Amino acid sequence: MRPIEMVDLKQQYQKIKKEVDDAVLNVMESAAFIGGPQVNIFAKNLSEYLGVKHVIPCANGTDALQIAMMALGLQPGDEVITPSFTYVATTEVIALLKLKPVFVEVDTKTFCAEPDAIKKAITSKTKAIVPVHLYGHAAKMEEIMAIAEEHNLFVIEDNAQAIGGDYYFKNGTVKKTGVIGHIGCTSFFPSKNLGCYGDGGAMFTNDDELALKLKMIANHGQSKRYYHDMVGCNSRLDGVQAAILNIKLPLLDKYIDARIKAADFYDKAFAGNEKITTPYRAGYCKHVFHQYTLILENTDREGLVNYLAQNNIPSMLYYPVPAHKQKMFASFGGGNYHLEKTDWLTQRVISLPIHTELDEEQQNFIIQKVLEFINK
Ligand SMILES: *Cc1c(COP(=O)(O)O)cnc(C)c1O
Repeated sequence: MRPIEMVDLKQQYQKIKKEVDDAVLNVMESAAFIGGPQVNIFAKNLSEYLGVKHVIPCANGTDALQIAMMALGLQPGDEVITPSFTYVATTEVIALLKLKPVFVEVDTKTFCAEPDAIKKAITSKTKAIVPVHLYGHAAKMEEIMAIAEEHNLFVIEDNAQAIGGDYYFKNGTVKKTGVIGHIGCTSFFPSKNLGCYGDGGAMFTNDDELALKLKMIANHGQSKRYYHDMVGCNSRLDGVQAAILNIKLPLLDKYIDARIKAADFYDKAFAGNEKITTPYRAGYCKHVFHQYTLILENTDREGLVNYLAQNNIPSMLYYPVPAHKQKMFASFGGGNYHLEKTDWLTQRVISLPIHTELDEEQQNFIIQKVLEFINK
């Protein structure tokens, strides 16, 4: 049996090595290291894949969120509603821009922000909502967009974990996640569903004016060379990374299928175990399984993590501390929140290895060891 990895990028690379190596060497030859044709081609390819008018590449997913908030003209003190149960990047950039993060509860099935909780958190200072499609499962975007419209709020989708996912609207319309809100953000961190071999990120929008602003802010607020119309930052995608992404984008759907197949396999094996809740899949979206996350009850979770580690099986707790309990947010009133569902989840979730290269022998071994511990 091959060693089990949380994400097996080495094995994945071996299968596309020739194409990737050629593409990288071509960038070297062309010396188009920052920006350049590969970046432009990738932006065009991705906008076609997503069905969105504009894709603006940038340096990473965290920058994408920050630039999105800057482009919307949010001002210090403006409130931004976001789940507490997310990766730190989502909430951190809100604080960095001196906006006020307002943390809301998530649904214990989907792990995503609850529309009702969002509604209740709206005040006269609220300017934006940042739903996160956690683990690859979409938040209830149709309801969230309706709330945003009613209260005149912007919606920035954190799509870093859900690229390639579909959203099924009640009227039959299908859209990719990330292109439903005013701006969508993603990350091409190597372990993401569409990952490059370093840092990378992008923003999506159908709004021409916003697209121009996003592009300018990502490049020092520059309208033409050395003319800076607004304060921006330096956030660029490398030519090498874009060239790799141009190889991997056509494989994304296949990669997602492999993840779903692995999730199905786990689901079947864990079905009916009263201590294990397998990931929920709402009918309104296609789950792309960036993570395969179980909820464990009446189980020594730490003990399971250690038992798996002893058997050379990695596992992860995404995320052990929710935003409202991070020291980082103490001065934002983090300690005053009572988010029972979020706390309940953080104590019970565990993510098992899931990636494009996982085989049944490996999965059977993981399943055997999980059940051995849980049923003992
Ligand atoms: C990975 C991730 C980010 C940040 O992406 P980076 O490219 O690492 O900056 C933001 N939000 C979520 C939910 C993520 O998983």
